[in-house]
Amino acid sequence: MDYAATLLAKLPGASRRNYGMRQLVETLESYLPPDQIRTVMRAYEFGATAHDGQKRQSGEPYISHPVAVAQELADMHLDAQAIAAAILHDVVEDTEASIKDIEAEFGAEVAALVDGVSKLDQIQFRSRAEAQAESFRKMMLAMIEDIRVILVKLADRLHNMQTLDAMPAKKKARIARETLDIYAPIANRLGINRFKVELEDLGFRHLYPLRYRVLDKALRRSKGNQRQIVKKISEEFEKTLAAEGIDADVIGREKHLFSVYRKMLEKKRLLSDVVDVYGFRIIVDDVNDCYKVLGLVHGLYKPMPGRFKDYIAIPRINGYQSLHTTLFGPKGQPLEVQIRTRHMDRVAESGVASHWQYKAEEKTDATPQRRARDWLANLAELQRSGTSEEFLESVKVDLFPDKIYVFTPKGDIKPMPKGSTTIDFAYAVHTDIGNRCVAAKIDRRLVPLRTELQNGQTVEIITARGARPNPNWLAFVRTAKARTAIRNHMKTMRSSESVDLGKRLLDRSLKDLDSSLRKVGKVRMKAAIDELDLNTNEDLFEQIGLGERLAPLTARLLLGENQKGESDADTASLVIAGTEGMVVSYARCCHPIPGDNVMGYLSSGRGVVIHRNKCGNLSVFRKQPEKWIAVSWEKEIDREFSSQIHVDTQNKPGVLAEIAATIADSGSNIEQVSVLGRHEDCSVLSFLLQVKNRQHLAQILRSVRKMPNVIRVVRDCA
Ligand code: MN
Repeated sequence: MDYAATLLAKLPGASRRNYGMRQLVETLESYLPPDQIRTVMRAYEFGATAHDGQKRQSGEPYISHPVAVAQELADMHLDAQAIAAAILHDVVEDTEASIKDIEAEFGAEVAALVDGVSKLDQIQFRSRAEAQAESFRKMMLAMIEDIRVILVKLADRLHNMQTLDAMPAKKKARIARETLDIYAPIANRLGINRFKVELEDLGFRHLYPLRYRVLDKALRRSKGNQRQIVKKISEEFEKTLAAEGIDADVIGREKHLFSVYRKMLEKKRLLSDVVDVYGFRIIVDDVNDCYKVLGLVHGLYKPMPGRFKDYIAIPRINGYQSLHTTLFGPKGQPLEVQIRTRHMDRVAESGVASHWQYKAEEKTDATPQRRARDWLANLAELQRSGTSEEFLESVKVDLFPDKIYVFTPKGDIKPMPKGSTTIDFAYAVHTDIGNRCVAAKIDRRLVPLRTELQNGQTVEIITARGARPNPNWLAFVRTAKARTAIRNHMKTMRSSESVDLGKRLLDRSLKDLDSSLRKVGKVRMKAAIDELDLNTNEDLFEQIGLGERLAPLTARLLLGENQKGESDADTASLVIAGTEGMVVSYARCCHPIPGDNVMGYLSSGRGVVIHRNKCGNLSVFRKQPEKWIAVSWEKEIDREFSSQIHVDTQNKPGVLAEIAATIADSGSNIEQVSVLGRHEDCSVLSFLLQVKNRQHLAQILRSVRKMPNVIRVVRDCA
């Protein structure tokens, strides 16, 4: 019975060609059960219908490409979901069909894989800088939640490289360079040797066609010459192993072109030195046999000192295991021998992919993430040298990075910790950029500054001269660099503000005593600074500004009057302009606004806090008269202050909205609304408003009072 033929006969266009489907189904039949093959067939029908009429650069129907990609993965015995996703991988990008359609038809898992591949296609390797290639590789890996996504992507790239001849020359070189910079190293990292080798050779061929041709010719010639010798030595190995009762396959190993080229480049060797090396691979059943074989081949030919490597005891970082040794051949030519088990050989070819191979007996519902973690654990297990933690860390960095990678507008890649915001990015570019940041764009669209960045986004920071960091940023920044920079800036700002305020307070107190800072003079000032155990005048001013030292007492100290005099608080007052910044604040209990009668209270560490004279809390503070200072408002103040009002209303629908509209019409913002009480027919509401001064507030109160459903409105007084 030809199961494949029956299924294929049902496919559209079956009478003509099946664009590689026949071979794919044959491969799948060797390891997948029939129901899963049917899923793949359905994917083919879906894909062939969606891509219908589209052609590749070569002129072939488009569907031949996804089928070829699926074939690569089938050769590695990947599961049905991965194969189906491979067939559908270009459907969302290039046809009308959506992810939702795929999910409805093939389930969430296949849809997630296709979606992952489409997302990878969206990020472009824009800048060619060598250093960026590494970041870009990491960015790709960071975007992946399921390793199968990168397997599909690598197979996709491989087939595109195999069919690159149809492309224009310029495009060819770009794609080839990208393959060598990005995709081959990823395949290597994941231990998928079969992909790595082919991607490298194809990349090399299209990037340096001339060098490729010369090397290819030389390699072919030497292979012809070597064939006899390789055959003779292989037979000798086989005979010796058989005599010891070891069941082994001996393979004459061919070198791949790019590795020859790289060796010449890196080790500055002549072509003949690199080419005239004979390669062998000996595959056995178990680990013990590996070491036995090693001893036997060392008995046959003398080993070259310093060339033996035990990657079984200490595997490579991608899980590769094998014994490597180099022998002096019959005429002194080097023989490179690799010895490993069948299992190790499979892992060496497929790497991480071997963990997603379909196994009939296995019935786990392990998530892809779980499987990837198992793979890592497996690698760690292999790495029995004491540094397994360190080793695992280094693999994890690539596979599950806690970093994201974003682009600057110029196309440079910046790695950022996960959860970073535009502000973190601004500070990562430069502290000055962070300090002057006022807005941000992600992928050319304006976003709130607190927006979290995602992999692959382009971030642009808009700065303004004279802009300052906002203390509120501290609530959402993620990086230490941003946090420290914001704090430092606030500290400097605060300290320069308090120095300024302290100087004014001290001068005012001196004037009360018929003196001034100028009259006191440098010498007396210096003496006072020493006496107080301070370093500079600024230190003293800052302490006064922050309320840690009282201006009247300091003034007397400066004038040498240690006796307590009477304070004439009303002789001169400190003028408040509302622009003092953090050293002058407004009490939240009574919300003073310009026009109110106010007093200042020196609060240790917080500078001057302004209260209304009527404030109910004043009685507590009155016990410390030395901490009070007279203050008055500057004439013209152009900024807004918070003020609180109470409104009693009738319980009618929409009344809150009406009041809010009236307040807004009066040119005021509402910061906060709360319901203080609710009775049968009336409610008491409290509004925190922004107002300019007493007149502005009075005008708002008048407008609200006139409203039909308002019973009473008053300014709140603690
Ligand atoms: Mn494709």
